[in-house]
Amino acid sequence: MNQVEAAARYFHQAADLLELTEWQRTQLLTPHREVKVECNIVQDDGTIGTYIGFRVQHDLSRGPMKGGIRYHPDVDLNEVNVLAQLMTWKTAVVDLPFGGAKGGISCDPRKLSQGELQRLTRVFVQKLHELIGTYSDIPAPDMGTNAQVMAWIVDEYSKFQGYSPGVVTGKPVELGGSFGRESATGRGLMLAAQNLFAAHGQKIKEFSYAIQGFGNVGSWAARDLYDQGGRIFAISDISGAIRNRDGINIPELMEYVKTHRGVAGFPGAQEFSSDDIFFQDVDVLVPAALGEVITSSNCGDIKAKYIIEGANHPTTFDAHQLLTKRGVIILPDIYANAGGVTVSYFEWVQNIQQMRWPDDRIDSELHKVMFKAFKDIQETKDKYQCDYRTAAFTLGVDRVSKAKRLRGL
Ligand code: NAD
Repeated sequence: MNQVEAAARYFHQAADLLELTEWQRTQLLTPHREVKVECNIVQDDGTIGTYIGFRVQHDLSRGPMKGGIRYHPDVDLNEVNVLAQLMTWKTAVVDLPFGGAKGGISCDPRKLSQGELQRLTRVFVQKLHELIGTYSDIPAPDMGTNAQVMAWIVDEYSKFQGYSPGVVTGKPVELGGSFGRESATGRGLMLAAQNLFAAHGQKIKEFSYAIQGFGNVGSWAARDLYDQGGRIFAISDISGAIRNRDGINIPELMEYVKTHRGVAGFPGAQEFSSDDIFFQDVDVLVPAALGEVITSSNCGDIKAKYIIEGANHPTTFDAHQLLTKRGVIILPDIYANAGGVTVSYFEWVQNIQQMRWPDDRIDSELHKVMFKAFKDIQETKDKYQCDYRTAAFTLGVDRVSKAKRLRGL
């Protein structure tokens, strides 16, 4: 079962608990708008390149729609659709005043020069500028896009609509970006873990961890778990896997990775096959790299008691059922990695206020959002006697459904 089918199953499980009617389900699942545009650019060799761009605006019942723009060869309408829908539930779970959207261009950004990427981004904005905006739909970086791409979007959009830094988030700090955006998803994951363990009368420092991925999410999650006294026993990334039963020194590893481009060879740690990262003898697993890595065929060898999902959809639907039946507690992606979209929301608020919040304010506001969301998920879990993923979906779907009902047809 792929991500599209899994998202539908999770939605219907929530809808069953909420006793939603068929027409309510249809209304909730049907995207507000799907856009497909042709983007022609003059390439560096003088030929014309034609690329197809997409934006799916899934739901605006709770506020302007929010979601990333992805540049990747596999981008298609089906994928963008399900990712847009998941953004609707995610923003609702953490109670941001946003709906959900997603977009992308089917292209391989590694094969495009900076000039070609800039021209492609500008053409995409020319096609979309009437549909996105500070109060309608606010894109952000995703796979293959970054702060520079967001800066080009602000510039191109502002030519049509006047200076509008709030049209996208994830901008460079020099252009209205927020402090704390880089560490936001990893920090949010640490706060999610803290809330989960507190509900079970425990603390981060009581546990050992194995983390897949040492990029943006994995490295900041590792850093914050380490700072809270967590013992990080094993880490893997594209370069390999390392472990140390005495615990890996994460600040030193972060420095090492800057010059060695990966965790492999980190002094003092033992190397092992990265395929075995999930089978380590640890209390907590943090998948923070790829989707669909914990499957029905490998989950039987997992020893950890907790899985905290940093990546999107790292656990397949079948693996989720098997692990939950065995008593493994999974904190789902739509809550555990929502720190990123939450700080994106803070960036948008700062742009509207035309002021900059200091680091400590970002931290304390993120803390409040993650704490409140966990409390709401826990209450939903207790009410419906279900697992955390079902509770998070049920909370998100319920909030959107109520907003829709209140706004009327
Ligand atoms: P990234 O590109 O910064 O890092 C990815 C990491 O995964 C790298 O360390 C890379 O070496 C590692 N990796 C790649 N292939 C691997 C493999 N086969 N085995 C082990 N490690 C491998 O990406 P990121 O921003 O950290 O995102 C990671 C995941 O989190 C993605 O699923 C992304 O969609 C999700 N996510 C990211 C954010 C965010 O704010 N960055 C927010 C929500 C969700």
